[in-house]
Amino acid sequence: MRPLDLQQIGNELAIKWDDGHEDYILLEALRRACPCAGCQGEVDILGHLYKTPEKPYAANAFELVQLASVGG
Ligand SMILES: [Zn+2]
Repeated sequence: MRPLDLQQIGNELAIKWDDGHEDYILLEALRRACPCAGCQGEVDILGHLYKTPEKPYAANAFELVQLASVGG
């Protein structure tokens, strides 16, 4: 399934998929679900999670600045 259109509507990202389905996802939920090691931590080969202490998000942390396709 591939996105055909992405648009910000208020505090949500609207996604129109190629099967006609549409999703609306809160920008805050997307930001909090960031999968990068800086946000979620990293697990070493022994399974130990290394994660920096959580910091409060700035007031503008949930604003959409840019959209870009990544990967397949
Ligand atoms: Zn991140």
